[in-house]
Amino acid sequence: MLCQRCGEREAEIFQTQRVGDKLYDRDLCSACAKLDYGVFLGALLQSQAPGAAPLTEEDERELRRVLDQAAPSEDAPARED
Ligand SMILES: [Zn+2]
Repeated sequence: MLCQRCGEREAEIFQTQRVGDKLYDRDLCSACAKLDYGVFLGALLQSQAPGAAPLTEEDERELRRVLDQAAPSEDAPARED
């Protein structure tokens, strides 16, 4: 499975994240994951680890904002680049 973002490298991070009533699928190589989500992906992955502390409210708000920006819009026309 190739990375959904660059389409060049093998995806290493597979994730389905529920934010509100939306589900986001993410298949990303580690480089793109860092570019796209940076500390928030790290925080997210950490929050899902057994025994980890939950995200703070602030972390969760920021994470939701990042995911909303990154999510492909169903209305937007396909880009060719
Ligand atoms: Zn990539």
